[in-house]
Formats: sequence, structure tokens, C-alpha cells
Amino acid sequence: MVKAVVGANWGDEGKGKITDMLAKDADIIVRFQGGANAGHTIKNNYGKFALHTLPSGVFYDHTTSVIGNGVALNVPIFFNELKSITDKGVPKPKIMISERAQIVMPYHILFDQYEEERLGGKAFGSTKSGIAPFYSDKYAKIGFQVNELFDEAALKEKLKRVIEVKNVLLEHLYHKPLLDADELFATLMEYKDMVAPYVGDVSAFIDKALKEGKTVLLEGQLGTLKDTDHGIYPMVTSSNTLAAYGAVGAGLPPYEIKQIITVCKAYSSAVGGGAFVSELFGDEAEELRRRGGDGGEYGATTGRPRRVGWFDCVASRYGCRLQGTTDVAFTVLDVLGYLDEIPVCVSYEIDGKETKDFPVTHLLEKAKPVFKTLPGWKCDITGIRKYEELPENCRKYIEFIEGEIGYPITMVSNGPSREDIIYR
Ligand code: GDP
Repeated sequence: MVKAVVGANWGDEGKGKITDMLAKDADIIVRFQGGANAGHTIKNNYGKFALHTLPSGVFYDHTTSVIGNGVALNVPIFFNELKSITDKGVPKPKIMISERAQIVMPYHILFDQYEEERLGGKAFGSTKSGIAPFYSDKYAKIGFQVNELFDEAALKEKLKRVIEVKNVLLEHLYHKPLLDADELFATLMEYKDMVAPYVGDVSAFIDKALKEGKTVLLEGQLGTLKDTDHGIYPMVTSSNTLAAYGAVGAGLPPYEIKQIITVCKAYSSAVGGGAFVSELFGDEAEELRRRGGDGGEYGATTGRPRRVGWFDCVASRYGCRLQGTTDVAFTVLDVLGYLDEIPVCVSYEIDGKETKDFPVTHLLEKAKPVFKTLPGWKCDITGIRKYEELPENCRKYIEFIEGEIGYPITMVSNGPSREDIIYR
């Protein structure tokens, strides 16, 4: 059977930890979208790791880690990451890279930087990993699938054609150095040698595994609110972050996805720009940011301070609905133990009207949060393993939010480690 681990919010909900935990009982873990533009932080018996491209199942030796066709594959980053985990004593993972995955080209990263420079104050706050130029090229049909590395004559010819277009922009729009086809070809040949041992037909591999009764875990990157179609467009990522896309990005039948575990953080955080209705500022924000996550709310890829805010029931209910949630994993709850009382955003006020429906972007920008304040529990809940042993106000917080979002919270995460989990 297939399970998906996806995010309800803006990313950084703790999907890496939940995936790492669930991977214990899975055979195959698949990344199905996105690239090295966001990170998953995982803490386990080998140490603390920031993964960007490798699936969060790489720490077990019974699993196969798969890069699906939907991923933006940055080859050097992928192999550096692989080296960084084996250097720390993690056994070499079994890996498969889809022959249909596309490659992040060195110029995608340059174009990402140049475009953000050109936009200046109007920039998207991109992580400059080349993701937007990569997906633009994929859909413009001038991207490069991994299998194309193995047809050298066709590759050379296509590179020339693509570079012609890129060089016009480089010369006349960005005023930057031009690309050289021979140099790029040489780089791609290095990429070919690196990926060659791992390339395969992922869809056929998963089909066979499912027929053998194996368990496949789809690991999403970012969250619903960063989805290209259903998120806060245009301040979104350039791929679909929904579980539904897992079927496309891994090449499996949609009806095989039986469980959708939507990870939802006990407060809000976001990186990059865009409307953030329940955002906190000043000292209150600074304190939550400092205490947040595991060692503070700072981006796993960029180190940028994350924007933080109170839990947003409107955004999270929407986020869970679009994912098709069967289970909510409610994470990072331990962090809130310092608060006397905890505001929760229960609805938005837009043009004087109150609503619980998550709106389109131009209305979202006008939305003001309507808060309800719940009492805090004022103690450290890490180490608790039974739901009934949580303080009453903590259970009330969980149950209030469960009622507001309308999906069952079946897992509560109260610390960064694998063991810090309470099943309900
Ligand atoms: P992802 O992108 O969704 O995997 O999330 P990130 O890894 O970017 O951010 C989650 C951060 O919170 C990481 O530093 C995790 O180690 C940490 N984390 C995950 N779950 C918990 C939890 O229940 N409590 C605490 N304190 N930290 C957690």
C-alpha cells in the first residue's frame, strides 16, 4: 500500500521527522516533487541531518530511497548529500533515480539568481536553487530527463538549441556571461557517470513492489499553501505539493494512496514572502522563533529566520482538505509549553466579513486574524508517551484544533527525535 506524508501549511511542519519515523515500517520511500530548495531536518541515532534531496528514509538499511520523475534533481547536491550521510556512519542506502526525472542545469540556478536580482524589491524571496527556471523549462519542453544523458549525439544537438535561447536572455536582459555548449556537455557527462549506477524505471519498480505487498511512502516537500495551484500564488513553489501529485510524480495509480498523513505544526512558520495572516512580530515573534523547532526557526536550506505566528485554523483546515487528509500528525507541540495563554486564529475578517474559508491571494492579503485564546499548560511535555498523560490544557488545545480543522489528529509529536511521538 501507499502512504503519503505531506504538509498542511507553508512547509517546515516536521515532515522529515514523521517520514523518518514511518520509514521503519516501509520498504520504499519516494520523493515526488520539488528539489533542493527546502530541507528536512532529521535527528536520529546517527546524528542531526539536513536533507534536501534524499528521501527521509535513507537512514534504514531495509528501505530503498527513490527520486521520482516529479523531482528537480540537482545531481551534485544529491551526491554531496549522499556523501555527507555516509561520512557520518550511515550505511550506504539503496537508491533509485527515475530515468524520467529531470535535471537542474547549472544555468537554472544562474537564471534564478539573475531574475531575483532583476526584480529587486519585487523578488519572490527564492532560495535561488533554480527551481522556478527548472519547472518553466520542463513545461516548455526544453528540460533534460536523466535518460537523455545516455544519448550523447541527441543531447549535444539539443543543448545547442536550448542554449541559443538562453544566451539571448543572458546577453540582452541580464547582461551576464554567455553559456558554452561544450562546457555544459562536459558537465552533463560528469552527471551521467554519477547517476548511471542508480537510474531505473521507477514506475515499474513501484508497480512490482505493490504487487508483492510492499509499503511505499511518498514524502512531500513544503506544504499545501506553497502548492503552485492551490497555494498563495504567486508566492508559491513551482511544483505541486499535494499528495495527489504523488501519483504523477512517482508514476503510480492514484487509488493506491490509502493513507494521507498531513503534518501540521502546533503554531505557524513560513519562509519567503506572501500573506501570512496570523504572523507575529517583535518580541513575541522573536521568542517563538528562538524556542521553535529544534534549535530555533531558521531555514534548513538557507539559514534564513522563518516568519512565525499563531496556529491558523483557516489555513490548516484548507491545507488538510486539499491534501485529502486521513490522519493529521500534529508536531512541535512541546515548544508551546512556555506560554501562559495561546491565541489561535479561528477565522479571518475580510472587508468587515468574518469567514472560515481560505480565500484567493488578493483577498488573503486583506484578511485580519480573529483569535480565540486558549490557556497554556506551562510545562515541558517532552518525554510523555501516552495521550492521557498530557496536561489537560494541552489536550484541550489539541482537541480544540482538531474540532476546527475537522480531521483526526492521530499522532502528536512532542520532540524532534523518532521516539517523541504519541499515538492516539
Ligand atoms: P520539514 O521540511 O517539514 O521536514 O520540516 P523541517 O525539518 O524544516 O522543520 C522541522 C524542525 O522541527 C526540525 O528542526 C525538526 O527536527 C524539528 N521537529 C520536528 N518535530 C518536532 C517536535 O515535535 N518538537 C520539536 N521541538 N521539534 C520538532
